[in-house]
Amino acid sequence: MTDLIEKLLWLSHEIGREDRHLAILGEGNTSADLGDGTFLIKASGGNLASLDASGLSRVKFDTILDAINDHTLNDSGVRDVLLASRADADSRLPSVETFMHAICLREAGAKWIGHCHPVSVLQVLCSQQGAAPFLQHVFPDEIVVCGRDLAVVPYIDPGIELARSVRASLQKFDADFGGAPKVILLENHGPVALGQSEREVMNILLMLDKWARILIGNFTLGGPKFLPDATATRIDTRPDEHYRRKAIAELQRQT
Ligand SMILES: [Zn+2]
Repeated sequence: MTDLIEKLLWLSHEIGREDRHLAILGEGNTSADLGDGTFLIKASGGNLASLDASGLSRVKFDTILDAINDHTLNDSGVRDVLLASRADADSRLPSVETFMHAICLREAGAKWIGHCHPVSVLQVLCSQQGAAPFLQHVFPDEIVVCGRDLAVVPYIDPGIELARSVRASLQKFDADFGGAPKVILLENHGPVALGQSEREVMNILLMLDKWARILIGNFTLGGPKFLPDATATRIDTRPDEHYRRKAIAELQRQT
C-alpha cells in the first residue's frame, strides 16, 4: 500500500501545482483502488498541492455503494455514511465526492481517478456551449489520450445525487459506444479522468487542459474547424495510434 500511497500523493501534487491552474484551495480530489474491497481517496477539505498521507482516507466500497442505492438518505445521513465507510476509524472524513469515485472505480473499470476544476476546461463547460465543443474533435492527440467519445453530466449537486447521475451517464455511454469513457465532463463543475495508472490520469488531464485552451482560441478566430467524424474514428482505431497510446501510457513518471 505504501507504493500506492506514494503514487496517489504524486498525482495529487501534480494536479494541485499552482502553475497548472487545474485546482486551487480545497478543489478537486483523487482516488485509487486498493483491490481489496477498499479504495483511497482525498479526505474532505484537503489541498491537493500539499496533501500528505494523513489527508487520505481508506474507504469501503460496499458501504458507499449501498448508500447510493438507498434513496431515503438525507444530508446528515450522507455524512454518517461517509464516517461509517472508513476502513480505519481514526482517518479523516472522506471527500463528499467519495460516492462519485466509487462509481467510477467500480462501474467504469478504472483503477485511478482524478477530478479537478481547471480554468481552461471550465471556460468551456460553464459557457453557453456547455460540453458540446468536446463532443467533436480538433487534433489527433486529444483523441489518442482522451478517447473518441466522452461522457457528459449536466450540473447537479455534488455528493450522492451526482454519483447517481454519473452512473446513469456511464450506462448511457456503454449503450451508445460500448465500454467506458476516459473522461466524464461535469457541466458547470469540472472533468473526471479515469485511468489504469496514475500517469494515465495525469496525461488525460493535461491533454484535456490543452484541448480546452485550443478550443477557446479557436472560438476567437471564427470557431473550431472540427475534424470529420470519419477522420476522428480513423485516428482512434489506426494501429500506429494504438502503439502511440500504449507508449504514452507507459511513459515514466516525471517528478
Ligand atoms: Zn469538483
